[in-house]
Amino acid sequence: MADKVKDPVCGMMIRPEDAAATEEHEGRTFYFCSKVCHDTFVAHPHRYGHPQDEAGHAGHAHG
Ligand SMILES: [Zn+2]
Repeated sequence: MADKVKDPVCGMMIRPEDAAATEEHEGRTFYFCSKVCHDTFVAHPHRYGHPQDEAGHAGHAHG
């Protein structure tokens, strides 16, 4: 009974053992439903790796 985790790219809730890929970012492990989501995260980790931060910067464009 593993807790579900959220794929930060597409927002899908998945089980860690079902993840197609994982990535560590700033000490946290992220899980992805597909290689495509993983590739997207790796290309833009700052966009997906900090959801709280993103909320705090509403309307502020990052590069
Ligand atoms: Zn996904």
